[in-house]
Amino acid sequence: MNDVATMEKIVALCKRRGFVFPSSEIYGGMGSTYDFGHYGVLLKGNVKAQWWRAMIGEREDIVALDSAILQHPRVWEASGHLEGFTDPLVDCRTCKQRFRADQLEEASCPRAPSKHPGEHKDCDLTQARQFNLMFETTVGPVKEEGATAYLRPETAQGIFINFKNVLAFARKKPPFGIAQVGKSFRNEITPGNFIFRTREFEQMEMEFFVPPEEAERWHSYWLEERMRWYLDLGLREDHLRLRAHGAEELSHYSSATSDIEYLFPGKDERSERRWMELEGIANRTDFDLRRHAEYSGEKLEYFDQASGRRYVPYVIEPAAGTDRATLAFLVDAYDEEVVEREGQGKGEGRTVLRLHPQLAPVKVAVLPLVSRDGQPELAHEVAARLRALMQTEYDEGGAIGRRYRRQDEIGTPWCVTIDHQSLEDRTVTVRDRDSLAQERVAIEELPALLAERLSAPWRSPKLAGDPA
Ligand code: ATP
Repeated sequence: MNDVATMEKIVALCKRRGFVFPSSEIYGGMGSTYDFGHYGVLLKGNVKAQWWRAMIGEREDIVALDSAILQHPRVWEASGHLEGFTDPLVDCRTCKQRFRADQLEEASCPRAPSKHPGEHKDCDLTQARQFNLMFETTVGPVKEEGATAYLRPETAQGIFINFKNVLAFARKKPPFGIAQVGKSFRNEITPGNFIFRTREFEQMEMEFFVPPEEAERWHSYWLEERMRWYLDLGLREDHLRLRAHGAEELSHYSSATSDIEYLFPGKDERSERRWMELEGIANRTDFDLRRHAEYSGEKLEYFDQASGRRYVPYVIEPAAGTDRATLAFLVDAYDEEVVEREGQGKGEGRTVLRLHPQLAPVKVAVLPLVSRDGQPELAHEVAARLRALMQTEYDEGGAIGRRYRRQDEIGTPWCVTIDHQSLEDRTVTVRDRDSLAQERVAIEELPALLAERLSAPWRSPKLAGDPA
């Protein structure tokens, strides 16, 4: 199978179909910030719902948390972020732009747009200096008297500072986890690549507290679980890999980290695909709990009444980016194909998002063939029934072929068409997004049929030609 997706095509589709818009567009835009439109909200919501399902819905050893974005400034002293959450920054004396010294390979010089990434060695760069990525703000009505606070650069610390609260009410003992989804903020030196790297983004993080001697085993366990999550939701196996960090790359708190990487496409057909991080899975040891215990004076440990043992748990952390995962699902689902018209031999092109049905923003579209003769009324009745079960869209405007194309482009797995026969015998046709097969189904049987298909295991049709 050819990989036809490029970042340019994804950006264009996201804008055209209302997934993601450049932010503040009417004011000329604000670099690298984005707003999610209707289908983007639904898609990202489904990504988060699947994550919650894997963390909370399908198991009993993890609880949920939603902590504040603004936290006591001492949190960031204890965590090491104030001192060490920095990236190496270099200036180019020629083009006056700033770059991350460790990402020069990826950056391109705006003064020489035709140059290929990696040609910064031509540039006249300053020595690298450390730049803290935390956004600072002032809390309190009078700026001069206010206290400095930081927008959280990760959701994880909100979990550590609530360890004691959760332990007190959750009736859990290690191994157990605390999961959180929310916005994080980093003043990235070089944001870019659409929603891959932005200054405001969402994370899905889970801290799994374990007896120290079990940490390695749980680290392997979560690597496997998290890989499986992406695969079950339809990402191609040959587009995913695990990469262990080398010693020089490890964060200050980590004894071992592996990244799940996705093979993202380049900007256009001529650019190469590149492996980039989707999620980091770290063994954070007991670093965070020990530091917060030291800085707050609170005891952050677990006392096992059965054995009389008292210890500070180790932490295994799968940390994923919601926006990055959403982008990977979009890219992987993107397909273009030529549809042969029966008997005519001549093909017509279509763009289709072959999203996992659970991720698709809309599950079913109900389309009356014509907007008269009682068809809209029956279509509204069918849509109302389906709406009780799944995200349903009603659309009666324009030629049926164009309405199908629109649903293909937003990844709707099924289109239900109401025609003149429907009014006579209360049957409808169900069109499958991927196979384009059409079948006639009784309206009475339709809700159960689609609900069953929605919950069935799914494999991307893009893999049909590949060995299983
Ligand atoms: P990178 O090396 O790409 O800057 P990181 O290793 O600093 O990322 P982590 O601190 O491990 O990232 O954060 C966990 C996850 O949060 C990342 O795997 C990514 O999916 C997401 N993430 C981090 N920074 C950003 C960002 N600026 N924009 C979007 N997502 C991000």
